[in-house]
Amino acid sequence: MQRTTKIVATLGPASSAPDTIDMLVDAGIDVVRINFSHGTVEDHQGRIELLRQTMRERGRTVAVMADLQGPKIRVGKFAGSKVVLKPGQHFILAADCQLGDSGRVGLDYPELVDDVAPGDTLLLDDGRVVMDVERVEDSEIHCVVRHGAELSNNKGINKQGGGLSAPALTAKDMADIETAAQLQVDYIAVSFPKTGSDLRLARKLAHKAGSHALVVAKIERCEAIGNLEDILQASDGVMVARGDLAVEVGDAAVPALQKRIIRAARAHNKFVITATQMMESMINSPVPTRAEVSDVANAVLDGTDAVMLSAETATGKYPVETVQAMARICREAEKSMDPAALDRHFLDLVFTRIDQSVAMAALFTAHHLQVKAIATLTQTGSTALWISRLSCGVPIYALTTDVRTRYKVNAYRGVYPLMTRYAGHDREELLFEAEEELLRAGAVEVGDLIVITFGEPIGQAGGTNTMKIVRVGEHRPA
Ligand code: PGA
Ligand code: MN
Repeated sequence: MQRTTKIVATLGPASSAPDTIDMLVDAGIDVVRINFSHGTVEDHQGRIELLRQTMRERGRTVAVMADLQGPKIRVGKFAGSKVVLKPGQHFILAADCQLGDSGRVGLDYPELVDDVAPGDTLLLDDGRVVMDVERVEDSEIHCVVRHGAELSNNKGINKQGGGLSAPALTAKDMADIETAAQLQVDYIAVSFPKTGSDLRLARKLAHKAGSHALVVAKIERCEAIGNLEDILQASDGVMVARGDLAVEVGDAAVPALQKRIIRAARAHNKFVITATQMMESMINSPVPTRAEVSDVANAVLDGTDAVMLSAETATGKYPVETVQAMARICREAEKSMDPAALDRHFLDLVFTRIDQSVAMAALFTAHHLQVKAIATLTQTGSTALWISRLSCGVPIYALTTDVRTRYKVNAYRGVYPLMTRYAGHDREELLFEAEEELLRAGAVEVGDLIVITFGEPIGQAGGTNTMKIVRVGEHRPA
């Protein structure tokens, strides 16, 4: 069985060399993340060009996700580039401090002063440093260090419990959306959204810049949990962004939230990526820890569409080994899943759309007849998405003539894109071409039973309204 869970790998300095990118593609990455928090436009462009070159050579599909920086609040720089903070010591975050020392440091977001009050807890560097706010004076936040550690230049600051007023899209994000459009990325991830309007604005700006990228909401703020329904409605997919989420809601709350977000996303027909520290120790080690192996496997069992690597592939010592290990863990976890456990709530669903009803009928048939594959002839990828919201243990091939759809569907669990060239109006020829593509891709053999969905009349725009059960090779058009 081929792996159904998709792998997202962040590209960075450790994964910019042509042969590293070749090896990452060979190791099985499905999506690359371009992180707009780091690097220049030229860096991003260079990596994307190398990736597209590799794809052409290999005939593989790897989609590109642009991840916007968002309103991540950071400390400024220190005179010696870092300081060591001790528990009990006083420390000042001062908007106008140019170069920090062991007593104070600057802030790139002066408005933080208005968002905090005495008694608030601030977490720096993903919670490695914890401080309690003692008092706020003009442009200075006076704190007492609760947990000390080394603090270096430009580390992030989060407020426990959320409540920061910064809007999700900064001026830099708006400019980066235009860059992402020029780079023809397939997904745009929005950092720190609070409500659905943040996603709607990102989509509007992307459209204006000529991009039809799918919009991914990173769930990493307290407010986003409360507005999950609204955010899901407004986005195409979500990310369980455990790094920032854990500092906002407390780390112990994250495992249950991960399960809840994954379930909610699938129920809303959205895809979901589980992210951050999945294989963290592999930044420096060629093998994962037992806990990391379990974490990746459990995300697979939770039903995530994709698992993501951040520093492991962007700056780590073993980017290729990490992807190989992750792929191996996903495959093994998938084997242990019971495909017969088709979620029974789906039997009670009421569909309002014809195409969605056909998608569900195909899923039901594929599951009960145990066919070899489901083939969906799809322009937008929606049919493939719907079918993949329930695991039926049957691979779903999205056959499309639209190259954008080829990349879009690549994040969906159990969905594999195939390009088809048929543009005529003949039903028999269309189905024959679909079979030929599946045979060429090695997805099926002559004699296999498959389910195909398509829209009639052939060659006209319009939704899927037909499902056919076919034995491969049985019919040849005259
Ligand atoms: P980041 O987002 O890596 O851009 O911070 C993911 C997360 O917060 O988990
Ligand atoms: Mn984050």
